[in-house]
Amino acid sequence: MPAHIGVTGLAVMGANLARNLARNGFTVALHNRSVEKTDALLAAHGDEGDFIRTESLQELVDSLEKPRRVLIMVKAGAPVDAVVDQLVPLLDEGDIVIDAGNSHYSDTRRREAALAGKGLHFVGVGVSGGEEGALNGPSIMPGGSKESYDALGPLLEKISAHVDGQPCCAWIGTDGAGHFVKMVHNGIEYADMQVIGEAYDLLRSGAGIEPAEQAEIFQEWNKGELSSFLIEISAEVLGHVDAKTGKPFVDVVVDSAGQKGTGRWTVQSALDLGSPVSGIAESVFARGISSQRAQRAIAQETLAGHEAGVALPENFVEDVRQALYASKLVSYAQGLDMLTSAAKEYGWDLKLDEIASLWRAGCIIRAELLKDIMAAYKGDAKPENLLFAPAFVQSVGAAVPAWRRVVATAVQLGIPVPVFSSSLAYYDGLRRKRLPAALIQGQRDLFGAHTYGRVDEEGTFHTQWSGDRSEVNAVDTH
Ligand code: NDP
Repeated sequence: MPAHIGVTGLAVMGANLARNLARNGFTVALHNRSVEKTDALLAAHGDEGDFIRTESLQELVDSLEKPRRVLIMVKAGAPVDAVVDQLVPLLDEGDIVIDAGNSHYSDTRRREAALAGKGLHFVGVGVSGGEEGALNGPSIMPGGSKESYDALGPLLEKISAHVDGQPCCAWIGTDGAGHFVKMVHNGIEYADMQVIGEAYDLLRSGAGIEPAEQAEIFQEWNKGELSSFLIEISAEVLGHVDAKTGKPFVDVVVDSAGQKGTGRWTVQSALDLGSPVSGIAESVFARGISSQRAQRAIAQETLAGHEAGVALPENFVEDVRQALYASKLVSYAQGLDMLTSAAKEYGWDLKLDEIASLWRAGCIIRAELLKDIMAAYKGDAKPENLLFAPAFVQSVGAAVPAWRRVVATAVQLGIPVPVFSSSLAYYDGLRRKRLPAALIQGQRDLFGAHTYGRVDEEGTFHTQWSGDRSEVNAVDTH
């Protein structure tokens, strides 16, 4: 019997997706550049379903039913192009090439256009959930043509995570839309992890609450509106004691956060789109500062802090919880706003309620909150910004006094809270009736004749700063 799908690239992610497909009743043809990985997979898990062993891409292609579905799960970047280049001459019109790795969406757009020119479908699929998700049910964000989704979607939906019987997989939009949404998901993940880190630091350095006790606080928080995978695992990490030293695990780990690049990609793309994802950007920069260990060592010896002794607000732990909730929500709002900007730029019809629903299980940012986010975008009256949805106007509004107290206290104590504070600045930036951007426009007009608009008249104006300071009508050519 021909295979339903072929998987090439059998390192941890490819192997687990192949096993997930086979466990769900699909016949899976296996291929890896070096055959050892194929044989290792078959030796360890060959009895989990129907696999076909192949040693070459030609053999892989020959083993598939038509239209062929070939899923590539190799290292992102040049290896994907290398595999695509080898595959293309072996395929027939209408066949589907799937890249489920962490590719940059612009590469996916390029590859999709190139293969469409040859009558082939190229589908960039965002897969979230790590190794465990790949095996047991990830959140899946496929892009590519609608037509290709008709042939591929049922397989992906079957192996995805499910919530209330609904798959966490749906067609996202054309070309690179799936990888774009996955990238922004990772950006939100960076911010979500950082705000949890800031809450921990405030409770530890500000309120002197030890990790073991914080584990209990986080477990408590996990029962309410903050309930999420990341809060749950934070409680687990905080409660863990290092076997070698008997110290809290967090105290023996080097405080320098790694990154593989998707957070950085999110911020780079946001800058190109002019999308203000300040919380996500701050979370990427916070990892950057943590990694500058040499500079941090010098700063500890040389830079003055002048931290003021401050009395902690009365219900500090609850204040921190509320600040965490509000900041987390701003990160989602910024990420979703970035999706809206990208949809306009790239002609995607992104359905934010559906995207929120895909993130409810299988992925790292799964959270109770996503139910409310889904509800906010259901129906015709879609908010311009997540923060404007009535439910969030109310819940974030209620958290504002605590949020201000926490940021003010952190500043006094010298505890950096870049995402708590930048999220509050974003919230206030949206709310303010007048922004100092008016002065910036004045500066720009003075030094560069960049022109400005007036609040009381349509048009574009310039003041003759070096002359008699009279105002002239101008056409902005800068
Ligand atoms: P790796 O990224 O470590 O890649 C290893 C695989 O790529 C091996 O099968 C290797 O073959 C193959 N490969 C590398 N170069 C080439 C080439 N030039 N030609 C053919 N094959 C090549 O594997 P992972 O399983 O960790 O990740 C796969 C993808 O999934 C990546 O894009 C990664 O970013 C993404 N990923 C996603 C995660 C998620 O949560 N969604 C988590 C982890 C990864 P060989 O054995 O012959 O060397």
